Amino acid sequence: MTDLMPVIFFGHGNPMNALSKNAYTDRWASIGNAIPRPKAVLSVSAHWYLPACAVTANLTPPTIHDFGGFPRELYEVQYPAPGSPELARRVQGLLAPVSVGLDASWGLDHGTWAVLRHVFPEADIPIVQLSINETQPPQFHYDIGKRLAALRAEGVLIVGSGNIVHNLHTYAWGTHGVAPFDWAVRFEKHARELLVKGDDARLIAYERLGRDAQLSIPTPEHYLPLLYVLGLRRRNEQVSFPVQGVDGGSVSMLAVQIG
Ligand code: ZN
Repeated sequence: MTDLMPVIFFGHGNPMNALSKNAYTDRWASIGNAIPRPKAVLSVSAHWYLPACAVTANLTPPTIHDFGGFPRELYEVQYPAPGSPELARRVQGLLAPVSVGLDASWGLDHGTWAVLRHVFPEADIPIVQLSINETQPPQFHYDIGKRLAALRAEGVLIVGSGNIVHNLHTYAWGTHGVAPFDWAVRFEKHARELLVKGDDARLIAYERLGRDAQLSIPTPEHYLPLLYVLGLRRRNEQVSFPVQGVDGGSVSMLAVQIG
């Protein structure tokens, strides 16, 4: 029997989680200790959202500080994990005939490193990022996930990094202990039920899930990484939620682990 790597969607939330030690980051570290050590990581981050499919193909991907207005120490964080041009080409091959560019201009954005520096603090596992093609409908992203399935048996950990509920208009920056909005709680609960049921079709057609979904997903980029993860779930494979909580009232920190 082949050992299959799990697949994990991380709710990354506030970039300051990269520096913090809190209940979320403790859980991220526990996940790193609990899963088999991967040969490489393929990360689909909400923060590489562009009108094309691309993979990072650099040997030493830079740590990208793709945010503004944070303390200087956050800009000083480096996550010097190596890249893997070999994995980049493998992804390109698996996704053909979808055109996937080998990119040397991006690197690791905070959707990837803010989480992985807790999961794999040694930064010694090669990482490739796969972009989210913003011109494509939700079904496309789910299908791309499916086509990456072979990587799970090759020791590659595929992660999606976003947030199932991500509304920054209502997010309470810098305020602790804010009660979650009722619509955020309802939508997260609904999404969890659909995940447990394996009702992928409704999760793909999230735009039809009503007003709670519209408030929770005002823009698609933080939700779409979940669809890659869903596409990689085998029939009846276990789903669990190793990280839970809503931050600042309107950002769900829910992690979804398949396998
Ligand atoms: Zn984000």
